[in-house]
Amino acid sequence: MPPFTDEHEQLRESARGFIERELAPHAQDWEEACWFPDELFAKLAAQGLLGLKYPEQYGGQGGDYLHEAVLCEEMARTGSGGTAAGLGAHINIATPPIWKFGTDEQKQRYLASAIRGELIGALGITEPGAGSDVAAISTRAERVDGGFLVNGEKTYITNGVRAHFIVTAVKTTAEGGHHGISFLIVDRGEGVASSALHQLGWHASDTATISYQDVFVPEHNLLGELNEGFKLIMANFQWERLAMALGAVGAMQLAWERTAAFARERHAFGRPLSGHQAIRHKLADMATSVHACRCITYDALRRFVAGEDPLKEVTMAKLLTQRASFELMDECLQIHGGAGYMREYWVERAARDARLGPIGGGSDEIMREILGRVLAL
Ligand SMILES: Cc1cc2nc3c(=O)[nH]c(=O)nc-3n(C[C@H](O)[C@H](O)[C@H](O)COP(=O)(O)OP(=O)(O)OC[C@H]3O[C@@H](n4cnc5c(N)ncnc54)[C@H](O)[C@@H]3O)c2cc1C
Repeated sequence: MPPFTDEHEQLRESARGFIERELAPHAQDWEEACWFPDELFAKLAAQGLLGLKYPEQYGGQGGDYLHEAVLCEEMARTGSGGTAAGLGAHINIATPPIWKFGTDEQKQRYLASAIRGELIGALGITEPGAGSDVAAISTRAERVDGGFLVNGEKTYITNGVRAHFIVTAVKTTAEGGHHGISFLIVDRGEGVASSALHQLGWHASDTATISYQDVFVPEHNLLGELNEGFKLIMANFQWERLAMALGAVGAMQLAWERTAAFARERHAFGRPLSGHQAIRHKLADMATSVHACRCITYDALRRFVAGEDPLKEVTMAKLLTQRASFELMDECLQIHGGAGYMREYWVERAARDARLGPIGGGSDEIMREILGRVLAL
C-alpha cells in the first residue's frame, strides 16, 4: 500500500501538471545547452514546491516528508536528470542541514531565501581526495578574528557554478577521522572559484569543482556545533538516499510506460514488437522490477516517516533501485533499437542519467558495507 493520502495525491496531480507543462517541453534544449535557467527556482517557489516540508514560519508549505516524496517521484517527469538533480540538490541536500541545525538568523537568511527561490544552494562535502571516505576531507578552516579562513577544494558539487551559498564541510582541528569536522555556510564571493565539469549524464546540471582561497567566513555562518559536523552529514543521509530511490522509481515508471507504448506501436516481422515473446517477457520483467523497487522504497519511506531509524531498509532501497534503474534504462534503450542510440530520443539521455545512481549519495559498494555492518557480517 502506498503511504500517501488523497491530499498527497492532489499534490502529485498538480506537481505533475506543472512539470509536464513548464519543464518537460524544454528538457532537450537545456540538456543541449548544458544548463537549465536559474529562473526555474523562482518558478518552483511560486508553486510552493521549494518548501513542501518546511515550516510556514520560513515560507514553507508546512507539509511533511511524504509531500516531498511525491515531488521526488514526479521530478523524474522533467525528462532531464540534470534539471531534476539541480533542483533536487537545492531541496534535498543543501537546505535540510540549515533547517535542522541552523540558528533562527541562518534560517531567515538562507532557508527562507532558498524557499523563495532567491538564493540557490549547494552541499559541498566531496573533495578530490575524499569521496566515500568522508572523514578524509582536508579543506581547512582556521580561526581568525570574527570567524574562519577557509582553504581547500571541493569537487563533483551539484549546483557548483550557480549556487549562491555552499553548505561546506571543513576541518576545524588537526585531528583525523570523524572528529574535527564542522560546517560553514559559505557565500559566493571573494576567494570562491568554480569550474564546471564535463559529465556522462545530467548535462543540464552544473556539477563543478569549487576552490576556496583564503575565504573569510564570519562566525555566525558556522552551521551546527563546532567539530560536530559529522553528525550533520549523517543526519540527512537517510533522506538523501530515500529521495534518490524515489527519483529512480519515478524515472523507471515513466521509462516503462514510454517503452511499452513504443513496443505496441513499432512493428517488425509483421507484428508489434510487444507481439514477440522475447520483448513481451522483457517488458514483464521490467514491470516487475519497477514494482519491486516501489515496494522496497515505500516500505523504507513509511518507516522513515513513522520516526523509526530504518538504516537497513533505506540502504537496501538505495542499493536496489539505483542499479535496477540503470539496468531498466539499458533494456528500454535496447527495445528502441537504433533509435535508442540517437540524441533525439529521451531514452539515450535516460540511460546516461541513470548511471549516476550507483555512484552518488553513497556508492553501491558503500551501501553493501553499511548492510554488512547492520547485518553483523
Ligand atoms: C554527478 C555527481 C554529482 C555529485 N553531487 C555531489 C554534491 O552535490 N555534493 C557532494 O558533496 N558530492 C557530490 N558528488 C560526489 C559523490 O557523492 C561521490 O562521487 C561519491 O560519494 C563517491 O566518491 P568518489 O567519487 O570520491 O569515489 P571513491 O570514494 O574514490 O570510490 C571509488 C570506487 O571505490 C569504491 N569504494 C570506495 N570505498 C570502498 C570500500 N570501503 N569498499 C569497497 N569499495 C569502495 C567506490 O564504491 C567506487 O566504486 C557528486 C558526484 C557526481 C558524479
